[in-house]
Amino acid sequence: MTRLFGTNGIRGVVGEGMTPDLAVSIGRAVGTFFEGGPIALARDTRLSGPMLARAAASGLMSAGSDVIDLGIVPTPCAQFFVAKSGQAKGAIIVTASHNPREFNGLKTIDGRGMEMSREDEESIEAIYFDGRFQVAPWSDVGAIRTDETAIPRYTEAILSKVDADAIRKRAPMVVLDSGNGAGCVVTPYLLRSLGCRILTLNGQPDGAFPGRMPEPTPDHLGDLMRLVTEVHADVGIAHDGDADRATFVDDTGAFVVGDKSLALLAGAAVQGRGGTVVTPVSTSSLIDDVVRPSGGNVIRTRVGSPIVGRTMFESGAVFGGEENGGVIFPDHQFCRDGAMTAAKMLELLVRAGKPLSALLAALPQYHITKGKVDVPVEKRDAVLAGIVTIAKGRKVDTTDGVKILESDGSVLVRPSGTEPIFRVYAEAKTPARAEALLAEGTAMIRKALGTR
Ligand code: MG
Repeated sequence: MTRLFGTNGIRGVVGEGMTPDLAVSIGRAVGTFFEGGPIALARDTRLSGPMLARAAASGLMSAGSDVIDLGIVPTPCAQFFVAKSGQAKGAIIVTASHNPREFNGLKTIDGRGMEMSREDEESIEAIYFDGRFQVAPWSDVGAIRTDETAIPRYTEAILSKVDADAIRKRAPMVVLDSGNGAGCVVTPYLLRSLGCRILTLNGQPDGAFPGRMPEPTPDHLGDLMRLVTEVHADVGIAHDGDADRATFVDDTGAFVVGDKSLALLAGAAVQGRGGTVVTPVSTSSLIDDVVRPSGGNVIRTRVGSPIVGRTMFESGAVFGGEENGGVIFPDHQFCRDGAMTAAKMLELLVRAGKPLSALLAALPQYHITKGKVDVPVEKRDAVLAGIVTIAKGRKVDTTDGVKILESDGSVLVRPSGTEPIFRVYAEAKTPARAEALLAEGTAMIRKALGTR
């Protein structure tokens, strides 16, 4: 069957793949799937958001679902509303997350506030492709109302889950770059409630993204890094377009790679209590080094935040997340949460009483190198099977792609979900060993392809 949903909902360029017609149909399919509502509806700051959200609302109402319009809120804020308010059976969020400005997307959320399972997505795809839409008679079409409680509910929950008094006492100096995205409506106010001295960059919601691109990569965060240095801030925080991710800049103005911030947060989560931590196979072994001394254990999953969240839910994990700044705190909710991640990082900093740069320097150091090899989509499975054969006799993890584990490093070979390529991630304690493992992974793909 043709797929509608990618790894993170339905995405496309506005006016091409992403149209109001599609949004109406998805609204109809989601309304049919939930057999009536109410269904929450939210969006990020993208210019096409009102167009697509209104279309999705029409589709939902035509299937007999009432719609609760939350307006512009971060994705995790809408998820929290569904999970905790008891008012909605699910949600549609109009967002393209970190994608460039011409994109938009439709993300579907289940009754627990989690990104939908693949099974639920398949049910919606079946309704969509078969055209089996529920059509409400004139007397039963859905109604729509706005709700302004989502942000205060969400903000209060975060404040209750961190040591707000400790943060207020230290009043850290923070530069926040919300990137003109949905984080603008929550994080500055949250940080102020936490007593931070705060400077904002790109702090007004604006779907033209005049300040920077929505993905918080080092290339896009030059202004943030400079400002942190100039004002001698304790930390810089940046969100992606829908603020389910938080990326950090340390007190020296250096970009903090996601593997390191994830490891620091994981260490704080298991400290003194152990517990299960969930992360994809692609995350650095740094997380194992940090979690094991506290008696914790690490479960590795396939790549993608929905699978991480779901595995956490099923395993009773205390913490989880990905190396892209998407972090999940299960005491709060089972999805990535940028504002919560920011608050937890501040808590960690004030409790440690040390600069972020010092905490990072104290972590075990790894060298990571990445590469890619073109592999036609039709040869994907054969190449994967070939690599498993070539790697016979070695310690291998086949959770997602093939990861070969050595005593002094690892190499992961994984087909891309969106491009006809295999990605190779190598990691070791020295740059030379990381390069050697990268070369080995690349050679295995070529051998399995028969092109060596
Ligand atoms: Mg996002």
